Amino acid sequence: MQGLMMNRPMRVNDILTFAAEVHGDSEVVSVTVEGGTHRTTYRDIEKRTRKLANALIKLGVTTGDRVATLAWNGYRHLELYYGIAGIGAVCHTINPRLSAEQMIYIVNHAEDKVIFVDLTFVPILNALKDHFPKDLIYVAMTDRAHMPETDIPNLLCYEDLMDAETADFDWPDFDENTACGLCYTSGTTGNPKGALYSHRSTVLHAMMGVISLQTCLRPGKRILPVVPLFHVNAWGLPYAAPLSGASLVFPGAALDGPSVHKLMEDEQVFSAWGVPTVWMGLLGEIKAKGGKPSAFGEVIIGGSAAPRPMIEAFENMDVSVCHAWGMTEMSPIGTVGVLNLEQDALPQDQRIDLKAKQGRRVFGVDLKIVDEDGNRMPHDGEAQGELYVRGNAVVSGYFKNEEASKSSVDAEGWFGTGDVAKIEPSGMLTITDRAKDLIKSGGEWISSIDVENMAMGHEGVANCAVIAIPDPKWDERPLLIVVPAEGAGQDAPSILDHLSKNLAKWQLPDEVVFVDELPLTATGKVSKLTLRQRHNDGTLSA
Ligand code: AMP
Repeated sequence: MQGLMMNRPMRVNDILTFAAEVHGDSEVVSVTVEGGTHRTTYRDIEKRTRKLANALIKLGVTTGDRVATLAWNGYRHLELYYGIAGIGAVCHTINPRLSAEQMIYIVNHAEDKVIFVDLTFVPILNALKDHFPKDLIYVAMTDRAHMPETDIPNLLCYEDLMDAETADFDWPDFDENTACGLCYTSGTTGNPKGALYSHRSTVLHAMMGVISLQTCLRPGKRILPVVPLFHVNAWGLPYAAPLSGASLVFPGAALDGPSVHKLMEDEQVFSAWGVPTVWMGLLGEIKAKGGKPSAFGEVIIGGSAAPRPMIEAFENMDVSVCHAWGMTEMSPIGTVGVLNLEQDALPQDQRIDLKAKQGRRVFGVDLKIVDEDGNRMPHDGEAQGELYVRGNAVVSGYFKNEEASKSSVDAEGWFGTGDVAKIEPSGMLTITDRAKDLIKSGGEWISSIDVENMAMGHEGVANCAVIAIPDPKWDERPLLIVVPAEGAGQDAPSILDHLSKNLAKWQLPDEVVFVDELPLTATGKVSKLTLRQRHNDGTLSA
């Protein structure tokens, strides 16, 4: 027997409509790339979003079209999230840190129809435009006075488009499983893969966020997403914040410690969200200034493991750390390190031990760990296995990529995260290792296999391996280990020069170590575990 309840579709725009009415005065503050600070409210953003919907339709955007953004965190980017999704199109956020090759691939793979770009990134598009679809429409996210000099033909102006429209627009109804957002993530090998979010998954994820992070997601609180809008929707904040009534303070391009400290002080930010690397800069500035920003009470750290000393530094200045784990394919929140009252009353050292773990799952995410044969392992805090997830905001496959879709989900329909973990009976998760061959540097991925394949194309390289080595600033950095070809010297600069043709600068290994041979596993694969151990022991180049 079915229930007798209305079946209204979940639409992301209902979040903003709700915020405009119920939390209309909550602010959206943005540091702009043109200079200065811009202030608005959810009420005004909602109105402008309806103008934007009219403008998009005039540009020819229809249901299912992909509309790209290449932009920092700011109010126009937020408007695009809702304007695009609201008409049934898909907001495709592009990571400007990708290599030229990856960016060309994803714009073409997504078949973007329009691309909105912040002034900072206009030169990138100008350099790549000949590789993009010929009929791609370019819009600069600025006003007439700041339009850039560029060779991009017919570059449109965002504010001109807005000025030409009225806010007279009703958000259409459509199936709640309609796609609303697209975010590409690096694979262990080959091209990036697209996670395609739906209205339903996004609304549910926003609700999951609000019920899980109640200290900051509430009216009156001010949140700084340092995590970019091009990184899994800034961990869902563009939806969870308006839903809860919390204000958003967008940092634009100013992400260094002094700028973040000043912005947090000026805007009385309570909660700041980002990867460990950005907090190194802020901690440095707090030390230099001799104090934290005055309203700063909470930091959400995710994207990479939060180092214990970092947690300790924040906790010792009465900034509560919430260590969260998730991934692009999970929208992204999986677990959050919110302590219960009993745990919070423990001595500081024990609290910090708990916070160094990745936390417990949020409602809507199921976790299991499995052995090499796919058998479930107990949640006893001892057994370690590959972590699989299932849930309402977890991908069921990748956008236009059947092969990757098939291999990412097991026979029971769970998604393989590529992380290795243990889970305690209380649900506490600890990530212990990574099964996927990827390096995460400053929150961005580098595929070790891709770098290895490129290095093998150098005549002086007979064999090679790339491993992640710990780095105090970037969490991890790639190290290239090379067995030189017969007769070839140890020419590190030439190998790095060769790699730089296809890799972004930050993806290049910092160092090349030459060895006589690479250690192998029983199955004949290069043993990266042994290489990591040798690096730790200092015996790698011996
Ligand atoms: P992304 O899809 O770029 O967000 O990356 C997700 C991956 O980042 C996860 O599968 C983990 O390997 C890693 N990751 C994210 N958060 C954490 C964390 N708190 N601790 C350890 N690894 C993390």
